[in-house]
Amino acid sequence: MELDIEKLVSRIIKEGSLKEEENDLSETKKASADSSYLAVGESGVFKTVAEAVKAAKIAQNKYFHTSLKMRKKIIQAVRDQLLPEVKDIARRGYEETNMGNLKDKIEKNRLAITNTPGLEDLKISSQVITGDSGMTLYELCPYGVIGAITPSTNPTETIINNAIGMLAAGNSIYFSPHPGAKNSSIWLIKKLNEIVSKVSGIENLIVMIEKPSIQAAQEMMTNPDINLLVVTGGPGVVGQAMRSGKKVLGAGAGNPPVLVDETADIEKAAADIVNGASFDNNLPCIAEKNVVVVNEVAADLLKNMEKNGSFVVSNSQDIEKIKKLTVTEKHTPNKKYVGKSAEKILTDAGVIYTGHPRLVLIEADKNSPFAQIEMLMPVVPFIRVEDFDVALQTCLELEHGLHHTAIMHSQNVSRLNEAAKEMQTSIFVKNGPSYAGIGFGGEGPTTYTIATPTGEGTTSARNFARVRRCVLTNGFSIR
Ligand code: NAD
Repeated sequence: MELDIEKLVSRIIKEGSLKEEENDLSETKKASADSSYLAVGESGVFKTVAEAVKAAKIAQNKYFHTSLKMRKKIIQAVRDQLLPEVKDIARRGYEETNMGNLKDKIEKNRLAITNTPGLEDLKISSQVITGDSGMTLYELCPYGVIGAITPSTNPTETIINNAIGMLAAGNSIYFSPHPGAKNSSIWLIKKLNEIVSKVSGIENLIVMIEKPSIQAAQEMMTNPDINLLVVTGGPGVVGQAMRSGKKVLGAGAGNPPVLVDETADIEKAAADIVNGASFDNNLPCIAEKNVVVVNEVAADLLKNMEKNGSFVVSNSQDIEKIKKLTVTEKHTPNKKYVGKSAEKILTDAGVIYTGHPRLVLIEADKNSPFAQIEMLMPVVPFIRVEDFDVALQTCLELEHGLHHTAIMHSQNVSRLNEAAKEMQTSIFVKNGPSYAGIGFGGEGPTTYTIATPTGEGTTSARNFARVRRCVLTNGFSIR
């Protein structure tokens, strides 16, 4: 028989180049065979909490025994394959929750895909100490299975952001999304699993159940195979997680004030505040929720905010109408209007307006419910005070000690410094819109999980890893 040399050479070359990938895959493929949980097309989605956690535990074990190179490949594949679909991802979250606006949701998802740190984030905290007694190594290692609870206000963007960071740190993830964002979350989890399993052969690194509920979230919190809870939501769920007895990264509510003093560039401050406070209809926890301005520049700021698309409400009857519509008797925001547009709120309140405002500014004082409550809608109080000292005190009161976010517009460096120090917020933005604090038009990585009560602040891969110390005595010091 004649040998087809060309075919043979091409086969050898092909086999050689595939070998590396096959090595990466072989260990995981073997173990994947026992994954009886996976129905075709149902990747990562289970009926019960117990089944989902079990599958995620098996998956994490396989993942832990692959290489760092494989982790990088997975994360790159997630970025590469989600980015072309960013509009569809955003649309799904937007249509299902019926909150926010599509244009901004696309930007939020794009940021999560492109600007969430991956494995590079782990290097920062790795450390080696050498000396006469030997060598000690600190490295960031996976927790195991992370239970991640995500909010309705940033549904898909939080899943993407958490998934990239948690996978980078070597974990698998059980997601507990808000029931109101169930379908877009199921779609995304399946998509993520498809991407991950294609690259690595590992199924169910990211899981959820088909009917997420508060009860199921609580069941997950107490499952012994969940090693860390990362909770993004309001005070109720963060408190609940803290009572579980597990380690919690709690990313809770905020009520970010923006302080404007008489030295500020008023035109820029006005544009930045309107942009930040109307972004995704004020759904982000970091969005400006109170404007506190010193009297001297208040009129100028108001005029410029109107120019930038704000509708100012100063007569008490109209204020009452908006209050009746948006604030419940229990002193909470009316959920029906959370994340709705300024126009919808004005129309439903029966307030006559002109043009197409994107923000409603209410002339108010610090005791107004619009100031005290985290409204999560583009209705923001405009509070005038006599000077910088009172402004800072007012901002401190309105932030309620949540350690979340504050913003300030000023050209006075000492005051900027003083306010940043006194506010003690996880994010402090100077002379920019609030979203500059999560890497949109500001330096730094993106996060949708700002761990406020537990103090980690803007979270990334390094927060989803445990620090381990590895000691070798009498060796590897070559000085
Ligand atoms: P939410 O608290 O109603 O729900 C958040 C998640 O927790 C959902 O998945 C929900 O199903 C679950 N949940 C709620 N109560 C629970 C309980 N008792 N036990 C178990 N699970 C429970 O919040 P939301 O309306 O979806 O999101 C808005 C809130 O989240 C705002 O307060 C906002 O400030 C906050 N948030 C914070 C951050 C941050 O990084 N700090 C980011 C986004 C949103």
